[in-house]
Amino acid sequence: MKLRELSTDILILGAGGAGLFAALHAHKADPALRIAVAVKGLLGKCGCTRMVQGGYNVALAQEDSIERHFMDTIEGGKWLPDQDLAWKLVTLAVERIHELENELGCFFDRNPDGTVHQKAFAGQTFDRTVHKGDLTGIEIINRLAEQVWARKIDRLEEFRAVELIKDRSGAAVAGVLFIDMRTGEYALVRAKAVLLATGGGPTMYKYHTPSGDKTCDGLAMALRAGLPLRDMEMVQFHPTGLYAGTHTRMTGTVLEEGLRGAGGHLLNGAKERFMPKYDSKAERATRDFVSRAMYAEMRAGRTSPNGGLYISMRHLDRKLVEGQFRGMVERCADCGFDLAGGLVEVVPTAHYMMGGVEFAADCSTMLKGLFVAGEDAGGVHGANRLGGNGVANSTVFGAVAGDVMAEWVSKEGLRESDTAAVERAIAACEPRISKSHGSLEPLREKLYETMWRKVGIIRDAAGLGSALSDLDAMERELLETGIPDTDRAFSLTWHDWLNLKSLVQVSRAIAEAALARTDSRGAHFREDFPNTGPLASSAFTSLTQAGNKLEIRMKPVAFSRVRPGESLLARHP
Ligand SMILES: Cc1cc2nc3c(=O)[nH]c(=O)nc-3n(C[C@H](O)[C@H](O)[C@H](O)COP(=O)(O)OP(=O)(O)OC[C@H]3O[C@@H](n4cnc5c(N)ncnc54)[C@H](O)[C@@H]3O)c2cc1C
Repeated sequence: MKLRELSTDILILGAGGAGLFAALHAHKADPALRIAVAVKGLLGKCGCTRMVQGGYNVALAQEDSIERHFMDTIEGGKWLPDQDLAWKLVTLAVERIHELENELGCFFDRNPDGTVHQKAFAGQTFDRTVHKGDLTGIEIINRLAEQVWARKIDRLEEFRAVELIKDRSGAAVAGVLFIDMRTGEYALVRAKAVLLATGGGPTMYKYHTPSGDKTCDGLAMALRAGLPLRDMEMVQFHPTGLYAGTHTRMTGTVLEEGLRGAGGHLLNGAKERFMPKYDSKAERATRDFVSRAMYAEMRAGRTSPNGGLYISMRHLDRKLVEGQFRGMVERCADCGFDLAGGLVEVVPTAHYMMGGVEFAADCSTMLKGLFVAGEDAGGVHGANRLGGNGVANSTVFGAVAGDVMAEWVSKEGLRESDTAAVERAIAACEPRISKSHGSLEPLREKLYETMWRKVGIIRDAAGLGSALSDLDAMERELLETGIPDTDRAFSLTWHDWLNLKSLVQVSRAIAEAALARTDSRGAHFREDFPNTGPLASSAFTSLTQAGNKLEIRMKPVAFSRVRPGESLLARHP
């Protein structure tokens, strides 16, 4: 087996907002550092930060405050967020947005008086979402990528991380095993510090929004490395996924929250508005409420002929909709819908994982030398992420990780990797060789259906237990499915096989955590436990993998800044 070896000071896995900010900050801290960004796709062209439509939450306006942004985040997260992480998010978002505009060259929309325009997003008590029309992520990622290209930062593109490799003592990370997707060869990259920023991504659900390159590889690697993952039951469904039929990948892609913020209505199959019946905030309720109400309408059979629901903007000014949501209008038109003047079919769609690797406010993890940032990291959002807090999270913690790693590697050397672990990791990436292609498609469909029906928007113990048995069977079937031993360069079948392996492993973590949480909160709703437990004794799920078994503990939330029933706004009105 050919194994290429490379080495660097800082190795960054992933080129989204978290990975690119980390690279730029580490380089700024010490331009002499060797920094490599390894990415499963092409730098600047993959991941979800590029797909950000709505925008970036930050308290900029005079009438707003970081305390208010913090309280919205904590209350939206149903008192499960780690408060120190949430505080870091809201305070450093202000610095990052100024850096994005003034140093990196992003243009965000402005008001006639020259101030940055901030729009309404659901679940917030103040309109604080900075944006560039409805294509904010393209603006952010293009500017970040240009800055990375302009610096001496190594790029390992189409380079898929498959395992975190520890040193011989097992106490620290020594590097990462990759597959160079262009050649099919394995490569070991040794590094003093590694950043996990592969962006999570709940792509195991039938309807989902994240980019296709995201298959929870980072979370699967973290589990195998013995790192605790928290809040894994918390999978956010975005209410308005486009529903354009089973033949197109456009189904499931997101129609941004700003549509509801701007006054859009959700209608059932009888073309009746139903949200006011479920929540006094109607369409502006948080994503969990809206998705659940939609799912309830769907379960009751009040759907469109195709099984979806509708979003309607036609009662609003056509020019306003066309002007404010140009990207959305064009996307809908591509699929045969008139967003500004007609009805567009929608379904709730899996969007974001609040859960991820447990980490400290300096982005360090329990494995020495391993740092984490962005959607791979758990604890910032608790039970629910506010729209607009995702890209703030990845850029804020990416920058923190870059600053901290630059300082950290100045005192560290490269570590010797455990060669037996490398061999085991390579063996685990090798599918059974067969003369013919086993088909992975039915297996993927099974996974989609199981997660959507049994581990989706509304859950119960029976469904979750049944899902866990299904997942065990799927894993066995996957391991038995062979692929032909043909050329491994750009072998989509091989990578699909690896994608499914990660997805099944992380799906099991979601189902186990969902089974362990016997109350309903935020994105997690148990029909057999519909009430929220006492907030004052809130605990989060913490899950570790030992061998092939998952162990779960409930850990108490430390209310380090504010307790349930209190508000920072009372102290800082
Ligand atoms: C359609 C859509 C719209 C959104 N809109 C908003 C919004 O308006 N506001 C908001 O705040 N948030 C929004 N989000 C969420 C937001 O995009 C994410 O929270 C955030 O961008 C995640 O950043 P990240 O850097 O952690 O991950 P990403 O930007 O997803 O980057 C992950 C990177 O990791 C790479 N990668 C994955 N696996 C591997 C591997 N095995 N090896 C190497 N590299 C790997 C990927 O290729 C990618 O480069 C949206 C998400 C989607 C999908």
